[in-house]
Amino acid sequence: MEREWVWYGGRLSIDFVNTRKQRYAAGRELLLSSADLDDWLATAGLRGHAPLAEATELREAIDAGVRSVVAHTAFPAATRKTINHWLARTEPPHLEMRAGAPVLRTHTGPLSRIALDAAELFGTDTRNRLRICAGSDCSGRFVDLSAGQRRRWCVMAVCGNRAKAAQHRRTKGST
Ligand SMILES: [Zn+2]
Repeated sequence: MEREWVWYGGRLSIDFVNTRKQRYAAGRELLLSSADLDDWLATAGLRGHAPLAEATELREAIDAGVRSVVAHTAFPAATRKTINHWLARTEPPHLEMRAGAPVLRTHTGPLSRIALDAAELFGTDTRNRLRICAGSDCSGRFVDLSAGQRRRWCVMAVCGNRAKAAQHRRTKGST
């Protein structure tokens, strides 16, 4: 099955937030099953599995954080709590001996990896680069990594061009 994953978020945790699209309206869920989640995690390069309900709970907590940063409102306590919950489940990497040779073992699950990415984003000045696409039917989340930090669209070729075409239609209609 062809899935509609988008990867313009600029960060792992923001790409994850964008697995729910069209948030300007009621939202359209792309993670409808554990198989969807498995596919997203694998495509994102994360190993392991995670329960769907816990994954979407973390995702919505991160999105609440994104919205608060963009709107300059108080950072949600629940978001911090949820992220910290998953950070606490991060195990330090360590060396194990296997057949006389040391092997690097890491047991950090995919949701802890996503939470760590979100913590690095929210917990540093990078949070000031968080944006919500200005496309009237989009609201995709992304981190503006451009030098000028004036990016308005998730993907210029999609939402930017659509907005330009709408502007063009309005201009023509008014003359
Ligand atoms: Zn967009």
